[in-house]
Amino acid sequence: MSALPPAVRLDGISKSYDDVMALDEISLELEPGAMLALLGPSGCGKTTALRLISGFERPDTGTVEVSGRRVASPTSMVPPERRRIALVFQDLALFPHLSVRSNVAYGIRRDPDHQVRTDELLEMVGLGGDGERMPHELSGGMQQRVALARALAPRPDVLLLDEPFSSLDQAMRTQLRAEVREILRDARQSAIFVTHDQGEALTVADQVAVMTRGRVLQVAPPELIYAEPATPYVATFVGVANLVPGDVRPSAAETRFGPVPLIGPGSRELSGHGLVLLRPEHFAIAEAPDGPADDGGWEVIARRFSGSEILLEVRAADGERLWVEAGSRVRHLGIGDRVKV
Ligand code: ATP
Repeated sequence: MSALPPAVRLDGISKSYDDVMALDEISLELEPGAMLALLGPSGCGKTTALRLISGFERPDTGTVEVSGRRVASPTSMVPPERRRIALVFQDLALFPHLSVRSNVAYGIRRDPDHQVRTDELLEMVGLGGDGERMPHELSGGMQQRVALARALAPRPDVLLLDEPFSSLDQAMRTQLRAEVREILRDARQSAIFVTHDQGEALTVADQVAVMTRGRVLQVAPPELIYAEPATPYVATFVGVANLVPGDVRPSAAETRFGPVPLIGPGSRELSGHGLVLLRPEHFAIAEAPDGPADDGGWEVIARRFSGSEILLEVRAADGERLWVEAGSRVRHLGIGDRVKV
């Protein structure tokens, strides 16, 4: 659709610290105006990737481009302040002695139109009436919105957010991430944010890059990451996954639950023995009368309530375990009850 270059392009980036390979040949592209989440467990290299993009680290191999301009390679570095990149961290460090308005205007105070731009930004983040307040008078969520407005003030090509919501409580976090998503989308702001929270990545991002041990395993829209994960690791890291053995034929697998239709790239060419990913919502379960453990039934061994849904962990006589979603007729079941799957 657009002929614009990617907002960020990483090509074959590696970075080691002594004997730790923090990033191992990663390649990524961020479309202009899109939001990409780097998702992975602690130590997988997310922060190192942000530090390379922002210019606080130099790659051992590979190149970094911002809006089509090369900003880093093993032999060349554009300094952070000349990359047109802005950062928002979890400990946001507003200037405590400056008003909200002065905080937002700080980076553009020499621009002739800084007053107009500051008003526009305060409106954008919903703080139009709070410009004269001081940071300590604001809630954590409001402070984070000030930090966002301050970062957006110089119209950066790319905004980088490092665990931006992690210092907030759960309710504030859910609300603020929806707000931030709207603000960035309305501003068509290209952004990359780092999180280890899969729910956050799936709800906020247009694209999710799942990382582990310095590598990117898959980059795709959230729905695709969930429905067609590229590896068993991605399947289990994003959402609840049951990996069930099956004999695979083109487009179907024979499992202990009978034939299961297969989707996903290449599923028509598959054959042999493999693991079939079944999500909790793929199962239908029914209450079973109490009986001997070998009647083919499953015993409920754990129950997880999340408000909108109930998941049950069930165990067969042969020890196999599954997580299944409890539909409306079996919501009352608890540990020790028996079900048919
Ligand atoms: P977290 O979510 O815990 O911040 P992360 O995914 O952001 O983790 P990084 O901080 O990028 O991971 O770290 C990746 C690896 O590189 C880790 O093993 C870490 O210990 C190591 N590492 C990062 N920075 C340095 C450094 N300055 N010196 C030595 N090792 C480092």
